[in-house]
Amino acid sequence: MQRREFIKGVAGVGLGGLAVSTPSLAADLPAVSWRLASSFPKSLDTIYNAAEQLARRVAALTGGRFQIRTFAGGELVPGLQVLDAVQNGTVECGHSASYYYVGKNMAFAFDCAMPFGMTTRQQNAWMYYGGGLQLMRDLFKNYNIIQFPGGNTGAQMGGWFRHPVNSLADLKGLKMRIPGLGGQVMARMGVIPLTLPGSDIYPALETGAIDAAEWVGPYDDEKLGFHKIAKNYYYPGWWEGGPQLSFMVNLQKWHALPVQYQQAFEVAAAEANLLMVAEYDAKNPPALMRLVQEGVTLHAFPKDVMLTARRAAYEIFEQEAARNPIFHTIYKSWLPFLESEIQWFKIAEVPYENFMDYVK
Ligand code: CA
Repeated sequence: MQRREFIKGVAGVGLGGLAVSTPSLAADLPAVSWRLASSFPKSLDTIYNAAEQLARRVAALTGGRFQIRTFAGGELVPGLQVLDAVQNGTVECGHSASYYYVGKNMAFAFDCAMPFGMTTRQQNAWMYYGGGLQLMRDLFKNYNIIQFPGGNTGAQMGGWFRHPVNSLADLKGLKMRIPGLGGQVMARMGVIPLTLPGSDIYPALETGAIDAAEWVGPYDDEKLGFHKIAKNYYYPGWWEGGPQLSFMVNLQKWHALPVQYQQAFEVAAAEANLLMVAEYDAKNPPALMRLVQEGVTLHAFPKDVMLTARRAAYEIFEQEAARNPIFHTIYKSWLPFLESEIQWFKIAEVPYENFMDYVK
């Protein structure tokens, strides 16, 4: 009887009563101020904005009590050392691409992009519903970090080439700016891969120090002006079919947060994960149209390049799985999930998209 009356009493309070009680709850929560180190420059606005979006949303959801200040790559720590800075508590959190850290463990690439790996949708499916997030958190835990998917560029472009690539033979000896595992695969096909920061690519192309360069896609590439020198724009960027960015949080800092702040952070990260790819999908088509109008020629990579690259990529994965137990564990979840995603997407999604382009 008592319980029933209590429920009746609560129901009788109505919306006005709830509106009054909410601020008093928030007032009990502490003021928290964090710093976020991004790996990226502010000029890479679509990616950098994800961190600012997260900070704004977290502040709004906590009545301004949980503040996160964002810093571009190099402002607090070098862009490629964000994971280290979060791990040792130099900053509370960061925004980065996990494949920057394959030198620590190649398995970090599963948290971002594997050559001939998942698309954006497939990556999200594996992360949120395929066990991927937990597997990746088991790895990050060894580095004193909890991570959250925090954006995706969608499938990237294959980059800018001074001369057309008509077959595998044309890749031999080519100097290309392509970092990470994509570069390792290219090396197996005779390419000399180079890692250059964004700002150094244009002058290297201009002087002929490199013959080709990949960056992101039309919207970001256009700003760096590669099309003024190398007119051949290739697709797809098979090394980044759906690269995910990640928010990384120091584990002690995470556990010290009130549950409400953890919830705010998690929901803001998921929102950033959704919005980034939406922004790219809106901004890339008009950018691509402008590039083509300026005389850029679009090319698909020749089939022998695609097939040889895919074979080389999976040779690297198999070799790594044989010597790296963490990589092996994740690969054994990731690979069958990817294969079943491919079987599903080829039924409805891919034919639908092809038909929509074909019928004019
Ligand atoms: Ca890229």
